[in-house]
Amino acid sequence: MKYALVTGGSRGIGRAVCIQLAKIGYHILINYRSNEAEAQHTATLIRSAGVGAELIQFDVANRKEVQEKLGGWIEANPGKTIEVLVNNAGIRDDGLLMWMKDEQWDNVLNTSLGGFFNVTRVVVNQMLLKKYGRIINIVSLSGLKGLPGQTNYSAAKAGVIGATKALAQEIGRKGITVNAIAPGFIKTDMTEGLNEAELKALIPLRRFGTPEEVAFTVGFLAAPEAGYITGEVISINGGLYS
Ligand code: NAP
Repeated sequence: MKYALVTGGSRGIGRAVCIQLAKIGYHILINYRSNEAEAQHTATLIRSAGVGAELIQFDVANRKEVQEKLGGWIEANPGKTIEVLVNNAGIRDDGLLMWMKDEQWDNVLNTSLGGFFNVTRVVVNQMLLKKYGRIINIVSLSGLKGLPGQTNYSAAKAGVIGATKALAQEIGRKGITVNAIAPGFIKTDMTEGLNEAELKALIPLRRFGTPEEVAFTVGFLAAPEAGYITGEVISINGGLYS
């Protein structure tokens, strides 16, 4: 049975990604950190489309927990293969560098960049054995351009972009592609408090994007036919930055 693991699949972009990957035939392993009700809702949406969905709770930033829970799931399910990994879990905790607290820096870096390492390392072995895999990392415009007030978030996402390009070269010969998607402003809980009216005036397409628009590109990169694209970063930002 072929599975796609989506970290942070309980809400926002992650939920839309789960639904999109279910549409292209994958059973979905939905990771979440704390919001079980929302994760259950994602699972219900997937199951109602006739596709299998399982929940797996762990904090991507917690190396031991990832190893135990995700490593444990892989060991306990030898008939199930994770073919697609979407490293989507992420947080932001903005502030100017001069006032940034240790925890703000550490939590944001440990979730996006640390999470990429902790989860990918556990999943990639199975892909290497099967000589097939798709790893898709959700990064950000901040990681390409840098945004003031987000040195932590920009550094974390830029770090994942570097890791994407390096890993693509390490494991390409094993039939595994590694790509990143860099969204601009997407309507989710993460952008809830932002001044949308003011910001959308800066965007050539004059609107925020939707989680489904990001998920569509994840589905594209996850498809077998996208097998010659690797080490790329695809921007989805309404023309805000290119
Ligand atoms: P969101 O609505 O805030 O959802 C975040 C998701 O990540 C939730 O499912 C949350 O789980 C999960 N999560 C957070 N920390 C986690 C951890 N330590 N371990 C496991 N899961 C964790 O965010 P979003 O807007 O969908 O963002 C998804 C990704 O896209 C992030 O990487 C974000 O940086 C990136 N992105 C977003 C935008 C945007 O405009 N929205 C733009 C560029 C990039 P719980 O529900 O359990 O809390």
